[in-house]
Amino acid sequence: PKGIADLEPVVSDSLLALIGLIAADPRTDKIDVGVGVFRDGAGTTPIPASVKEAERRLVANQETKAYLGGWGDRGFTAALRPIVLGGHAGDARIAGVQTPGGCGALFLATRLIKLARPEARVLVGTPTWPNHPPLLKGAGLETVEYRHYDFEARRIDFEALRRAAEQANVGDVLLLHGCCHNPTGADLGEEQWREVAAIASERRLTPLIDLAYQGFGRGLDEDAYGVRVMLDACDEVLIAQSCDKNFGVYRDRVGSMWLKTGSEQATANAMAHVLQIAREAWSMPPDHGAATARIVLEDSGLRQQWLGEVAAMRDRINAVRRRIADSDPRLAYIANEFGMFSMMPLSKAQVVGLREKHGIYMADSGRFNVVGMADADIDRFCAAVVEALD
Ligand code: PMP
Repeated sequence: PKGIADLEPVVSDSLLALIGLIAADPRTDKIDVGVGVFRDGAGTTPIPASVKEAERRLVANQETKAYLGGWGDRGFTAALRPIVLGGHAGDARIAGVQTPGGCGALFLATRLIKLARPEARVLVGTPTWPNHPPLLKGAGLETVEYRHYDFEARRIDFEALRRAAEQANVGDVLLLHGCCHNPTGADLGEEQWREVAAIASERRLTPLIDLAYQGFGRGLDEDAYGVRVMLDACDEVLIAQSCDKNFGVYRDRVGSMWLKTGSEQATANAMAHVLQIAREAWSMPPDHGAATARIVLEDSGLRQQWLGEVAAMRDRINAVRRRIADSDPRLAYIANEFGMFSMMPLSKAQVVGLREKHGIYMADSGRFNVVGMADADIDRFCAAVVEALD
């Protein structure tokens, strides 16, 4: 019989292939805008000082590493609750569980949907984060694609979203990026959020909001506007949240999954199923990063420091966006977008040309990390892109 040794090779994610290409390039002035982590003006991804101090306190004071259980650190979710839910934090129909990153939260949310409503379809705007389709497929959910981004006009194709939502079946799921859309940076405006929420409420759709970059767009609260509006409008809402970016703890895997249903009892019952799903996958979430985030949020001094550090990351993202936008009218749209990612209006051949000629590495699709480059490299990056466009 065939076995493990007979498996077909994995068709490698083109972003993973890019990492290999970058590593193999001996040029010392290469620019890596393919990577998906925040970099500061010096081109590094530091641990925020508030996080570093919280880690120090955690290590100094922790007396046991005995199991915490499937919910993870309840103090972590309690401290995070008002940040994610805002004015809805007091709503007992909403419960949250700690997860291994945003991926873990998406895993729980999609498996819960499959368990509760196997026939539900998930509406997905394209392009989306490349891990969304495999996650949905892994959960066994059918997907319906619509165009999120208008590549000609370089903005969100809101009509397509509206149409998809209006044509959805009762009980279908609307997967939406809460803010800082990956890969396009094209977010919904406040009025658009309200409009989609009204359709979701009317057609009884379940919003599943992927909130991986809160604080990187307009502000911590502003970036949760969509979450809050959906909670206002809908009885059933799922939120997949990540602290990995805004706390700079990527590899520590810190996130949470939030569920709202129409009653406290239904939520409690569903969360028991969620814990069962988690139990089969990872049993309990890893503690270190979430405990660190909790310490930051519970200490007023560290919290203030962290808020400043998130603001500094956001300010850099928006400042680099403006510099790129100002370098050529064809790139002006980049200043209207949010978060770390944006799409360059380049063909694959032009993207490859940038790699070969300038050592500038972005995804084949033209997706690039706005803050992948150091301040000192911005002008050279812009000049090379503009040359490729000419
Ligand atoms: N959603 C989106 C849109 C993302 O870009 C990412 C991370 N790249 C995630 C979720 C998952 O983040 P995490 O590393 O916390 O699992």
